[in-house]
Amino acid sequence: MTRTASILAVGSELLGTTRLDTNSLFLTGELEAIGIPVVRKACVGDGWDGLLTELAFALTRAPLLCVTGGLGPTEDDRTKEAVAALLGRRLVRDGEILERLRERFRKRGREMPEVNAKQADVIEGAVVLPNRRGTAPGYLVEAEGKTIVLLPGVPWEMKAIFAESVRANLTGGGTPPGVHRRVLKIVGLGESAVEEVVRPVYEAHRGHDVTILAASPGEVQLHFAARGTPEEARTELDALEADFRSAVGPALFGRDDETLEGVVGALLKGAGLTLAVAESCTGGMVASRVTDVPGSSAYFLGGAVTYADLAKMEILGVSPEILEARGAVSEEVAREMAAGVRLRLGAASGLGVTGIAGPGGGSPEKPVGTVHIALDAADGTKKHERLVLPGDRAMVRRWTTSAALGMIRGWLMERGGAG
Ligand code: AMP
Ligand code: MG
Repeated sequence: MTRTASILAVGSELLGTTRLDTNSLFLTGELEAIGIPVVRKACVGDGWDGLLTELAFALTRAPLLCVTGGLGPTEDDRTKEAVAALLGRRLVRDGEILERLRERFRKRGREMPEVNAKQADVIEGAVVLPNRRGTAPGYLVEAEGKTIVLLPGVPWEMKAIFAESVRANLTGGGTPPGVHRRVLKIVGLGESAVEEVVRPVYEAHRGHDVTILAASPGEVQLHFAARGTPEEARTELDALEADFRSAVGPALFGRDDETLEGVVGALLKGAGLTLAVAESCTGGMVASRVTDVPGSSAYFLGGAVTYADLAKMEILGVSPEILEARGAVSEEVAREMAAGVRLRLGAASGLGVTGIAGPGGGSPEKPVGTVHIALDAADGTKKHERLVLPGDRAMVRRWTTSAALGMIRGWLMERGGAG
C-alpha cells in the first residue's frame, strides 16, 4: 500500500507578509525519506471555522495528516480542540503532563501561568509525543483508518519530536524505501558555467533526478534525489556525487549542511592560520559569516568596517595618494586594505573588500556592482579579483561576501595542495 500524507500549517501569522511556513519543507523531506509522498499542503489561520474545514478536507486527501502549530497556551491556539471536535472526542486533562509542565516552570524559578494548563489536555485515545524542548507535547491520533499527527509550530521543537517519536511510529521502526536527497555546493562559478562543465555527466546520468540552481548570490547548488532504502540511495548518491565532483573540480566546496564559512573555518583551523578582514561595501558581512561558525575564535582575529576614505587611511593605513588617484573602489585600495588589516592584527592572512553596492554611486568606468576583493598573506601570496556583479544592493553585498570567502578558500586549498 502506498501511503500518502497531507500537511496543514496552522497559524494566522503564516497568512501574513512576514512569516513563511518552513515546517512543511522539513516534514516533506522526512516523509519522503520513509516512502510517504506528500500530496497536499495548506496554511490556515487560527480561526475556528477555517481550521475545522481545512482539517476535514485534508483528511479526505490522504490517510496521514501532519498538522503543525496552534498547540500553544493562548486563546488562539485551538488545533487540538478542533481535532477533538472533528472526531467527536473529549479532551482529558492528563495529571502527569500537568506535573511535568509545572516542573518545567519551577526549574526556571517561575510558577506556571494557569493558561498553560490546557497544554496538558489530551485528545481521548491519543498517543502523547513528549517535547523535550518546549511546553507543548505533540499527539498522534488514530481514527477511522486515518492517522493525525499534531506537532507544535516552533520548528526547533517540531523537528525534535518528529525525529524522536513520529518517524519510528510511522515506520514501525523499520527502514522503508523512500526518496533521499543530497546537495552539492559550488562557489566562484555561475549557473551557466556549472551547467557547461557538468553537461557530460548530466547526460551520462540521464534518468536520474538532478537539478542545478542558483541557491543564493554567489552560490550554485546541484540537487540530487535517489529512491530506495537509505543504503541503496546512499550508494546511488555517492556515485552521482563522485562524477559531478570531478566534473566541477575545486569550485565545489561542500555538501548538504556544510557552509562556505564553515569550510573556510575548518581549513584555517587545520592549517593553524589566522584571518583578519577589512570591509567596505559589505559592511561587516564577511566577519559576520566567519563568526557564524562556532569556534571561529580559533582562527578569526577580527576586522574593520572602513566605509569612509578617512577610515581606510586611519584604521588600515591606506595611502591618501592611492585613494586620490585610483578611487576607493579599486584594485590598489583593496590590496592595501588586505595588507593593512593583516599587518595591524598580526594575522596570517588578510582580506580587503571594496565595491559599489548601489543603487547610486556608479559611473561608466565603475558601474554599480563593481567590486574589488584582495587577499594578502604572510607567506607572500597576494590575490586580487575584480567582479562586476548583477542584481540589487542586497544581492551585490551577499555575492561579494561569498566571493571573498571563496578567495580565502582558494588560497588555503592551493597551500594544502602544495603540501
Ligand atoms: P504555535 O505552535 O502555533 O504557537 O507557533 C509558535 C511559533 O512557531 C510561531 O510564532 C511561528 O514563529 C512558528 N511557526 C508556526 N508554524 C510554523 C510553520 N509552519 N513554519 C515555520 N514556523 C512556524
Ligand atoms: Mg500559532
